[in-house]
Amino acid sequence: MDTRGFGSTGRQVSVIGQGTWRIDGTAWSEAVAALRAGVDAGLTHIDTAEMYGDGEAIVGEAIDGLREEVFLVSKVVPGNATRRGVVRACEQSLRRMRTDRLDCYLLHWPGSHPLEETIAGFEDLRRDGKILAWGVSNFDVDDLDEALRIAGPYRIACNQVLYHLRERSIEHAVIPWCAANGVAMVGYSPFGSGDFPDPASTDGRVLGGIAQAHETTPHAVALAFLTRLDNTFSIPKTGRAERAVENAAARDLKLTEAEIATLEAQFPRGRRPRTLPML
Ligand code: NDP
Repeated sequence: MDTRGFGSTGRQVSVIGQGTWRIDGTAWSEAVAALRAGVDAGLTHIDTAEMYGDGEAIVGEAIDGLREEVFLVSKVVPGNATRRGVVRACEQSLRRMRTDRLDCYLLHWPGSHPLEETIAGFEDLRRDGKILAWGVSNFDVDDLDEALRIAGPYRIACNQVLYHLRERSIEHAVIPWCAANGVAMVGYSPFGSGDFPDPASTDGRVLGGIAQAHETTPHAVALAFLTRLDNTFSIPKTGRAERAVENAAARDLKLTEAEIATLEAQFPRGRRPRTLPML
């Protein structure tokens, strides 16, 4: 699966995208090259945030000349999420990325400013053409209910939440809620934020066996599993061009029902936790 409709935006967006948290830990030119290699390989959905240090500036350089190809997402921290604060923060993000618009702008996690204010700021930005759409991140079902009550249907484009093989809590209620309400689910930290199953472990051997059968990598298998449901997206981060290309292989990888069942058994969903896990 290459692209899917992204919530109510009317845009087809690459199912596998690129994250940028801590990408500024890689040498600047390598990070830019990795993102550009990813875009060339079809990973045109780029996720960043005002709180990712030099992340936005690196993205800005990477997408120079490629803006039309990219679905660009950034996030406002809750502390800035008043009506005027959202607009100010977005304008600063646009400056750092040297662009005039975002495709989607997210509230990074639920905070203390009234959600009515944040959503009013998002709508101001949308009206002024500075964002195509807005969404939320780290929202559990009760937060989503509140956002829907305030904004009305078909306004929340996506919910970005933690989702990897060993953390499948969102399958209980968040994914079904998103599917029922036309909200895209974007899974973050698909490789456990660097804590990926060791190839020598039982988990790693199961992944490796499936990867071998498809002549691909265990990381691509994980991405294919994490985007097996309609309406879902995944945004792995890498600062290495060759890994961006490797991750892009997941776009063409279709797991069999039996392989999905094997992975579901090896990485069980577990019980629904009381609070939504987040990083
Ligand atoms: P990931 O789960 O994407 O894992 C990143 C790690 O995996 C890095 O150490 C990277 O190393 C390594 N890696 C990537 N590709 C490969 C590969 N093919 N083979 C081997 N290793 C690989 O971690 P993140 O936590 O960064 O999550 C992804 C993105 O999600 C973030 O960058 C950010 O954009 C978003 N996010 C959003 C959050 C939110 O609250 N909304 C919270 C956390 C993340 P290397 O770079 O050296 O290749």
